[in-house]
This record gives sequence, C-alpha cells and structure tokens, in this order.
Amino acid sequence: MNIKDYVDLRKKLLKDKVEAFGKPLTLVIIQVNEDFASSKYIKGKLADAAEVGINAIHRAFPESISEEDLLQEISKVNNDPLVHGLIVQLPLPRHINEEVIKQAVNPKKDVDGFHPLSPFSACTPLGIVNYLKANEVKMRDQNVVIFGRSNIVGKPAAALFLKEDANVTILHSKTSDANKVTYLKNADIVVVAVGKKGFLTGEHLKKSAIIVDVGINANADGTISGDALPNLDVFLQTPVPRGVGLLTRLTLLENVWEARNNGI
Ligand code: NAP
Repeated sequence: MNIKDYVDLRKKLLKDKVEAFGKPLTLVIIQVNEDFASSKYIKGKLADAAEVGINAIHRAFPESISEEDLLQEISKVNNDPLVHGLIVQLPLPRHINEEVIKQAVNPKKDVDGFHPLSPFSACTPLGIVNYLKANEVKMRDQNVVIFGRSNIVGKPAAALFLKEDANVTILHSKTSDANKVTYLKNADIVVVAVGKKGFLTGEHLKKSAIIVDVGINANADGTISGDALPNLDVFLQTPVPRGVGLLTRLTLLENVWEARNNGI
C-alpha cells in the first residue's frame, strides 16, 4: 500500500478511536523559536491533530525566554491533568540547553520519545517500522543499513529494527567509501537519514532492496528532495515529499492516543 493510502487509513481508525474515547485528548506544542520551518511543521501538526479530533494547543514563547522560565512552563504542562502529550519544538535558542529541556518533559507525556525514560519511540523510526510491518516487509535476519546516527532518527531506528530481529549496521560521516560499498552490496533495507540531496545514487544496491528515504532537503524553487535520487531501480523506495514525513506526522498522533491514560 502506498504511504498516502496507509496514512489516510490509520488516521481514519484513529479518528474513530478518539471519538469513542469520549473525553478531549490534548497535545501541547511549545515553541521557542521564530524559525520558518518550525512554524510550518507546527502548522502541519495542528492541522493533523484537528483532522483526527485531537485538541492541540500551540504555546509560543519569545526567543528571549530564560531557561528557568521555560522549565516552569514545561512543569505547568507536565502537571496539568487535562494534558496528555507535550512536545517542545526544536531547535531551541542557543542560551537554552536542549538536553535539559528534553529531560524536563514528563516522560509519560513525551510523545516525541526524546526522554530516555519515555515509553514512546521517536516518531520517524516508529512510523517507518510500522509502515514496513503493515506492508509485510520481512525484517527478521534482513540486513538493514542505516545512514546517519542522530538521536532522533538513526539510533532509535536501529533499536526498532533490532526488535524486529534484523541485522543492523549504522554508517556515518566517518565511514570509509570502501566500507559503504561493502555494506550497500549486502543491504536488504537501506534507511538514509543524512540530509544531503542525491546522497544515495543507487549504485551497488540489489534490485530487491528497499530504500527508506528520510531526508528533507530544501530546493531553491521551494520544493523538497530526499537523500536518495528519485525512482531508483529497486524493489521499493519511499518518495519525497509525501513519504516518511507523512509517517512521522501520523506517528505523533498515534503516540498521543497511546498517552490517553495520562490525563483525567
Ligand atoms: P543529523 O542530526 O544532521 O544527522 C545526520 C547524520 O548523517 C549524522 O549522523 C552524520 O554523521 C551522517 N552523515 C553526514 N554526512 C554523511 C556521509 N557523507 N556519509 C554517511 N553519513 C553521513 O540529521 P537528522 O536529524 O537525523 O536528519 C537527517 C535528515 O532527515 C535531514 O534531512 C532531516 O531534515 C530529515 N528528517 C526527516 C524527518 C521526516 O519525518 N521525514 C524526520 C527527521 C529528520 P556524523 O554523526 O558522523 O556527523
């Protein structure tokens, strides 16, 4: 099933569950930047939430807010029994320590899955693995190669593929070209999360390979491109746009549903 149809179907199921829940399900999104891309993502999250009946509240603070004041605002949301999920949109201004803020979010409400004790998985990797499962893609004993070792994509993706009994390798900027070729030749599933347009050219890949393209690279004309060249000669390749980004957005909503027992 293509990603758009899969996401629409899951959203419909979620909407029905939220309706049947009978109580408002609330997500708070804290923003402390005037970043254009962040504002666009938040707009998307608010619209997504409205579509499935989740009450999303956007709380924007000036970039000049102190770390202490921001921690107080987070604490208020943490302790608000009417709020089920809380996310703090990144990036944060330089004078605020990102790790301190991530750790300050009540893990039970951390629907982004950033806190080490959060019961939730980071949205992008979980969205990817759920989509592959729904499409009956075999993961057990398959060679999964992940380009990128970030805390929000590469590392949590590795953990989730391991849970599915895959053989996982993470490659990064210090991996030699020779090693990249060796791993690519053997890869059944390639996850590319590097942030470089055209990074994955399709060279050395098996025709049976599956490419999951996480990259979002802005083009001068306002469009976006992934990290892989489009339409490669492989078994399956997720498109950009309307690929992994949709899965990430869906998973945030599904995590809010999973957080439903946090509130009253
Ligand atoms: P990030 O924190 O910048 O990490 C990029 C990773 O790529 C790093 O681990 C880096 O290695 C590695 N890398 C850079 N150059 C490389 C090279 N030549 N060969 C191999 N590895 C290389 O990025 P991120 O937050 O994970 O995001 C990655 C991309 O995914 C971005 O385009 C981002 O916008 C996009 N993204 C999309 C979604 C979505 O929903 N579609 C969600 C999140 C992110 P080092 O660790 O050695 O520096």
